[in-house]
Amino acid sequence: MMNKRSALARRIVEEINEIARAIGREVRIMDICGTHEDTINRGGIREILPRNIHLFAGPGCPVCITPVEDIAAMMKIAEQKDMIVTTFGDMYRIPTPRGSFSDFRARGYDVRVVYSIYDAYRLALKNDRLVVHFSPGFETTTAPTAGILSEVVERKIENFRIYSVHRLTPPAVEYLLKEGTRIDALITPGHVSAIIGVRGWRYLTENYGIPQVISGFDPLDVLLSILMLLKMIQEGRKDIENEYSRVVEEDGNIEAQEKIERFFTVRDAKWRALGIIPKSGLYLRDEYQWLDIRSEIDAPAMELPDLEAGCRCGEILRGLALPDECPLFGRVCTPSTPVGPCMVSSEGTCSVFYKYRKRGMGAMENGG
Ligand code: SF4
Repeated sequence: MMNKRSALARRIVEEINEIARAIGREVRIMDICGTHEDTINRGGIREILPRNIHLFAGPGCPVCITPVEDIAAMMKIAEQKDMIVTTFGDMYRIPTPRGSFSDFRARGYDVRVVYSIYDAYRLALKNDRLVVHFSPGFETTTAPTAGILSEVVERKIENFRIYSVHRLTPPAVEYLLKEGTRIDALITPGHVSAIIGVRGWRYLTENYGIPQVISGFDPLDVLLSILMLLKMIQEGRKDIENEYSRVVEEDGNIEAQEKIERFFTVRDAKWRALGIIPKSGLYLRDEYQWLDIRSEIDAPAMELPDLEAGCRCGEILRGLALPDECPLFGRVCTPSTPVGPCMVSSEGTCSVFYKYRKRGMGAMENGG
């Protein structure tokens, strides 16, 4: 017997089908969040959409877009002074032409995996040694980073530094739009929006006419968001709507924004496999430079290839290809033998596709 979730999903899908027929043309919807991509694959959502509605993943994996030069620079810095380097599990395994952090640890350097910057901070409290947190992440992760930095300053902790590779997400979408990537509508990430609010995304709709729906992470949230986007397209409306209003407010989390603003300033920054994106990187302000390990120890500028030959991560991050279009996917490149960064992180599109490729719509009925 059909349960309530399943019945609701079917009703939404029927409406999506009806509107897609009425629109009658190809529609490209981009999501820019690894968690949404997980939900889409877990719920088999791509497979149940009408043939003219296409879902593409964008640059929604912070670990995937972290420049290889920064990973290599962090290693060069750690070679010059005794320190404990901490980072997240996904980042630990990301392949670069100079090896991964995991390879670096195998060479005898002290690299440790932490679940959050808070764990790295606690390590500094318990140790006399210098602890340097290699700190990737979008707005959602930057907020706790700023929170810990404020503790470090208030408690005058002397043996804690970061290497910030934090990035902002709206400039990446703007960059793709300016590059000419066709995005008809955007499933906008709920957790980033919880920080920056509906307000943080509005300029993309106003300046580029792109419909957006801020979406939650249940398969039903995503299906409903797709329906809301298609309705806007059918009616010729270019708005931003908030499906995730149970969490996201118009102005976002002001306290978190103020903490981020206190410590970080925005500058142009490189994204792996995408290039330099204007005003997309978060760097420590002059008055907090001492918290940046790079202000103390320099690493030579390097130019390294972003990807191995044949890896199509660049196209995947631009929403121009899906992982199963990469000839290496699942054959040469797997989570245990990753060729590119998109196969490593749990938020990487290739890794998510690999995890769910044998599953289908049945998942929806059980909540994904
Ligand atoms: S499957 Fe592997 S090689 Fe292909 S695009 Fe993804 S990460 Fe790169």
